[in-house]
Amino acid sequence: MIKKTALKKWIAGAAIAALTAGLALPAEAKQETYSASKAAYKGTSIADAPLLASKSRRVSKGKNAGDDVRGPADPSYKMDVVYDAKTHKLTGKMNVSFKNNVKDNLSELYFNLWGRADVFKDKGGSMDVSDIRVNGKKASFQVKDTALHISNLSLAKNKAATVTMNFNVSFPKQQDRFGWYGDTVSMGNWFPILSVYDEEGWNVDPYFNAGESFYSLSGKYDVKVTTDRKQVIAATGTEQGKPAVDGELATHHYKAENVRDFAMEMNPTYKILSSKVHGVKVNVYYDDKYAKYAASLMESGKDSIKLFSEKFGKYPWPELDVVSMEGWFGGMEYPQLVMISLSENRTQEWVKSVNAHEIGHQWFYGIIGDNEFDEPWLDESFASYAAALYDNSLDQLNVPPLPESYYHVTSKVSDFTARGNAGINAYYYTIYDYGATTINDLRLEVGDDAFYKAMKDYFNEKKFGISTTKDFIAAMERSTGMDLTPFFREHRVFPSDQY
Ligand SMILES: [Zn+2]
Repeated sequence: MIKKTALKKWIAGAAIAALTAGLALPAEAKQETYSASKAAYKGTSIADAPLLASKSRRVSKGKNAGDDVRGPADPSYKMDVVYDAKTHKLTGKMNVSFKNNVKDNLSELYFNLWGRADVFKDKGGSMDVSDIRVNGKKASFQVKDTALHISNLSLAKNKAATVTMNFNVSFPKQQDRFGWYGDTVSMGNWFPILSVYDEEGWNVDPYFNAGESFYSLSGKYDVKVTTDRKQVIAATGTEQGKPAVDGELATHHYKAENVRDFAMEMNPTYKILSSKVHGVKVNVYYDDKYAKYAASLMESGKDSIKLFSEKFGKYPWPELDVVSMEGWFGGMEYPQLVMISLSENRTQEWVKSVNAHEIGHQWFYGIIGDNEFDEPWLDESFASYAAALYDNSLDQLNVPPLPESYYHVTSKVSDFTARGNAGINAYYYTIYDYGATTINDLRLEVGDDAFYKAMKDYFNEKKFGISTTKDFIAAMERSTGMDLTPFFREHRVFPSDQY
């Protein structure tokens, strides 16, 4: 761990110098600065990342501002899809039921179609929907950018409703969380997912390539995937029995509960290393090229589950898949599945630390959800803290905030992207490094025992739900009995950034 931590101090200084003084660090050096830091889970090619996230977008306002309502509740997805590994296209049918807990005569619904993001288009990516029915009736709909709007509805409050649709996905040729290259297919954010309606209205923020703008509620998934029988598939949830083989095709059936998304990764050459920790089955998917990292992924996978279960709350699912791939980032998180981006020159320490960060997201994003566009720190700062805890390098979390006071730990993604590449660099620095420092400072402020007790209380309160900055502060104050307002204000954690 010495390499990284030793590096870290230097990084903070250099980054600040570059960001503040507008110092002419060549773009490459800047990138390296950031990618060498722990913040690099997302970015080794920040400069290439198109600035897709424009201003936060609200398509309609909640009628009663201040309503603490978030829905539609209890989404339950059933999907039956066919993936053609030769054309990299997928066709599917979806049936999603939920409860309208948000308002009387709910007249509209939104879904996010992330596969339509501009960053995928040039590489052949697309996502289309057709034949949408709500409670069996054909519905009128419109698709704009990554938002699907279904209108002219009248859904009764506190009643269940069902939406069915057909969808077609074309995976871009791109080494990304959504895309394919060589034999590997990464299926993150690959299906239409219900948007969240909250006190601000419907959330249909734009796709954010350098991070996340995902926001969804926990629910159930029942997914059948038919593809070439040779494919080895890692997926959220648990496979139900053996795949049904029919000629060259096989149909796999997965079920998952209390998850806010469903991801897959497939490659016919994957080998699987499996083990158990605390009753959780950990599977590492790797191919020959990266066999040398398999043991590190398993070791850090098991140790992370053990450590984070002890410190934050018990890992709640029966399984976790750690999949190796070659993305442009360091790693990416989905419920019960993490993508770890490997290359020949990665050190074992780097691989373990990135894995710990992504597994940290199982707690912060997976179990305790958040609006990743509005309050990215609620998952990234905490996952970075978790990785430092795993690395035994908490004492190295001591970077100062950026001199520009308009960058807050609680800033929205759009507050950063509005400032171009400097803003993206500031995003990584503020949300990952300074955010993790803030959490560590909080631990030092209240003391170890009180801090981890408060984190467990927070976990129990928010398990499978959604948290906000306000909720986090309230949970910490309630559990410790301390007034933490001055602490959070000093650390640029402002509940007012939420609105
Ligand atoms: Zn992360």
